Amino acid sequence: MQVWKFGGTSVGKPERMHSIRNLITADNGKKIVVLSALSGSTNALLAMGELAKVGNDEELAQKIAELRAHYDAFIQELYQTPEGLANGQAIVEKEFSFIQSVTSIRPFTLKQEKELVAEGEILSTQMFEAYLQEQGESSVLFPALDFMLIDADNEPVLSHTEEALGQMLDQHPDKQLIITQGFICRNPRGEIDNLKRGGSDYTASLIGGAIRADEIQIWTDIDGMHNNDPRIVKKTFPIRELTFEEAAELAYFGAKILHPSTITPAKLRGVPVRLKNTMEPAAFGTLIATKSSEREIKAIAAKDGITAIYIHSTRMLNAYGFLRRVFEVFEKYKTPVDMITTSEVSVSVTIDNPENLEKITAELKQFADLEDHDYNQTIICIVGNFSADKEGVALKVLEAMKNIPIRMISYGGSEHNITILVDGKYKNEALNVLNERLFHYEDAMKGIFTAP
Ligand code: ADP
Ligand code: ASP
Ligand code: MG
Repeated sequence: MQVWKFGGTSVGKPERMHSIRNLITADNGKKIVVLSALSGSTNALLAMGELAKVGNDEELAQKIAELRAHYDAFIQELYQTPEGLANGQAIVEKEFSFIQSVTSIRPFTLKQEKELVAEGEILSTQMFEAYLQEQGESSVLFPALDFMLIDADNEPVLSHTEEALGQMLDQHPDKQLIITQGFICRNPRGEIDNLKRGGSDYTASLIGGAIRADEIQIWTDIDGMHNNDPRIVKKTFPIRELTFEEAAELAYFGAKILHPSTITPAKLRGVPVRLKNTMEPAAFGTLIATKSSEREIKAIAAKDGITAIYIHSTRMLNAYGFLRRVFEVFEKYKTPVDMITTSEVSVSVTIDNPENLEKITAELKQFADLEDHDYNQTIICIVGNFSADKEGVALKVLEAMKNIPIRMISYGGSEHNITILVDGKYKNEALNVLNERLFHYEDAMKGIFTAP
C-alpha cells in the first residue's frame, strides 16, 4: 500500500481535484490519500479566528461569507451530476454552519481556534470523497481524528496510529482508496489539535510509517526538492535523489516543500518518500531513501527568525560541567538548540522558538555571563556528502561567502551538513551567491538534477 499526499494548490481548484482522481486511479494500487485544505483556506480560517478573538463581528461575518462563496462556486464545477452537487452542498452547508457557530463563541480561545482551523481539511476531504462516490470509485473517508494523536509534548503517538488505523483498515479490506485529512489530530485532552502549519506532509509520513507503506508520495506544485529556495534564487533545479538524512536537514532548515518533521517517521520505518509535481506528473521528482547519488554538495536551505545566544563561563579555563549546565536549561524549557559553536570558555547557541527566552536567559545568568542576544538571524544550511577525508568543501562554501559577515559556522557535526549563521538581512544575498558558486548550470545539462 502507498500513501499519497496532495497539498493545498493540488486540491485548490475543481479541475485539480479531477486530475487527482485520475492520478490516484491510474493504477490499481491500494492507497491512503491524504489531503490538505484548499489553498488559502487555512489562512482564511486563521484570519477569522483573529477577528473572533477581538470580537470584530462585522469583518468576521464578511470573511465567512467570502469563503463560503468560494466553496459554493467550487462545488458547482467539482460535481458532474445533480446528486453529486446536492451532496457537496450539504457538506458545505453543514461545515459552514459549524464555522458560524464556533466563531461566535466568546471568549474565543485556542481550543476554538483549533476546531476552526481543522475545517479546511474537513471540508476538502469530504468534498473529494463525495466526488469519488459520484464517480463510482471504491473509496472511503477515514476521519484523521480517529487515529492521529499527539502527546502532552505535541509529539505524534505513532503506536496509536498504528493500532487505530490498522483496525480501521481491517474493517474495509475491499476499498481501494482511503481518503483522510492531513494536519489535524487529537491531543491528550481529546480535543481537536494539529501538527502545525504545513503538517499534512507529516501526517502522510506518520501514516506511511505506521502502516509500513511501500512508498510515501508527496504531491505538490513543484517538480521535487530543488537545490535552493526557488522563491529566492532564480536558477534552481530539482534533485533526483536524497538520503533520509539529507532531506531531513533540508526540511528542518527551511525547505518549505516539506514540513520540518516529515522525514522522521519515514526514516524510522525505512519507507521511501517521493516528491512529485501534480501539475507535471511525468517529471521524475525527488526520491528520498537510504542511499542516494554521490554528488558532493546537493542543496541549500535557510531558516529565518533565529535567535543567537552568546554564553561565557564565569569560571575560567577547564570549567568542566559548564556545557551540561547550559544544556540543562534549554532542556528544562523544552527549547531545541539548532546550532552550537564552542571555545574553551564560551558557547554560542541558536534557537528558533524564543517563547521561553526570558526564563532561559535568567537561569543562564546564574552561572554564566551573557552578551546581548542577536535576533532575526538566518541559518543557512548546506547539505551533501562531506565525508571527513574529502578536502575543500568548507573552502568552497567560505569562498562563496567571502563578502557576507558570518556570525557562526558549524561543520563536522555530521557528514552531510555545513551550517552558517548570518544576519537575516543577508539571507537572499547568501543564497544567491552560494547558488552561483556551488552549483553550475551544466550540472543540470548533464542530467544530474533533471528528469531522464
Ligand atoms: P503544498 O501546499 O503542496 O504543501 P508548499 O507550498 O507547502 O506546498 O511547498 C511547495 C513550495 O515549497 C514550492 O512551491 C516552493 O516555492 C517552496 N520551496 C521552498 N524551498 C524549496 C526547495 N528547496 N525545493 C522545492 N520547493 C521549495
Ligand atoms: N492546511 C494546513 C496549512 O496550510 C496544513 C498543510 O497544508 O499541510 O498549514
Ligand atoms: Mg506544505
